[in-house]
Amino acid sequence: MKNIKECSILSNGVKMPWLGFGTFKVPEGKVVEEAVKEALRLGYRHIDTAAIYKNEEGVGQAIKDSRVPREEIFLVSKVWNTDQGYESTLKAFETSLKKLQTDYLDLYLIHWPKALNKETWKALEELYKEGRVKAIGVSNFKLHNLEELLEDAEIIPMVNQVEFHPQFPQTEIMEICKKHNIQLEAWGPLMQGKIFEIPLMRELAEKYNKTISQIALRWDLQMGVVTIPKSITPERIKENMNIFDFEISKEDMDRIAQLNIGERVGPDPDHITF
Ligand code: NDP
Repeated sequence: MKNIKECSILSNGVKMPWLGFGTFKVPEGKVVEEAVKEALRLGYRHIDTAAIYKNEEGVGQAIKDSRVPREEIFLVSKVWNTDQGYESTLKAFETSLKKLQTDYLDLYLIHWPKALNKETWKALEELYKEGRVKAIGVSNFKLHNLEELLEDAEIIPMVNQVEFHPQFPQTEIMEICKKHNIQLEAWGPLMQGKIFEIPLMRELAEKYNKTISQIALRWDLQMGVVTIPKSITPERIKENMNIFDFEISKEDMDRIAQLNIGERVGPDPDHITF
C-alpha cells in the first residue's frame, strides 16, 4: 500500500479507502466541521459517522464546505440499536441522508447486533437493491451473529467493523470474514488512546522512526484491515495519514502479534446494555 488513495475492493466491486477518518465522540457543530474539513483538506476520502454520534449534520456540512466532490468521498453511517427493524431502519436511513445532505451512502452498517438483526438486514438489502447505498455491512458482529445472519441473508455483508488492535486482533472473526469475503474494519485502532502505553509499540516507533500511532495504523493495513482513527487535533490528523511510506517487517509483525491478550477496550457485543 503506497498512498492514501488505495482502496480495498469489496465483494461487490465497490472501492473502500483503506484509511478513513473516525468521528465517534466528536461534538456536533464547529468541532466536527473543522475536524472533517481538515481531514478532507489533507486528503482523507473516507469518513465514518453514525446516527448515535449525533454529528451527522456537521459531517454533512463539512463535506459540503470542503468542495470535494461527493463522489470522491466514501461516506459511512450506521443504524442505531433503537431503530432496528425493517420500517424503522428505512426511516433512520432517510434521516441520516437528510442530516448528511446527501442522496446516497457508500456504506451503511448495523451498528450493534440485536434481536431484530434479520429484519434490519432486509431493510439494508432493500436500500442496496434500490441503489441508495453502494455497500452494506455490519458492525460488532461476533462469529455467532454472522452465522445467524448468513442463515437467510440474500446478500452477504460486505464489511464487518469491529474493535481491532494489537491487544485484540479478532483472529476468529478475521477468519470467517476472509471465508465469506467480508472486509474487516478496525474501530478503536489506537485503543481509544491506550495504545500509547505499550512498551513494544514505543520500541517499534523508535526503530522505524515513526510514531506509535503510525505503527498501529500501518499494522492494520498490513493485516488487511481497513482502519479509521479519530482525532480532532490537526497535527494528529496529519500524522495518522503518514503511514504509506514504510513497511513493518514480517519479524516485527510477529512481535506485535504477541501483544494479543484478548482484551477489549470497548463493550462485549454479547453484553451491551444500550
Ligand atoms: P481511536 O482508537 O481512533 O482513538 C482515538 C483517540 O486517540 C482520541 O482520544 C484521539 O485524541 C487520540 N489520538 C488520535 N490520533 C492520535 C495520535 N496520532 N497521537 C496521540 N493520540 C491520538 O478510537 P475511536 O473509538 O474513536 O475509534 C475510531 C473510530 O471508529 C471512531 O471515531 C468511530 O468512527 C469508529 N467507532 C466505531 C464503533 C462501532 O461500534 N462501530 C465504536 C467505536 C468507534 P484527539 O481526538 O484528542 O486528538
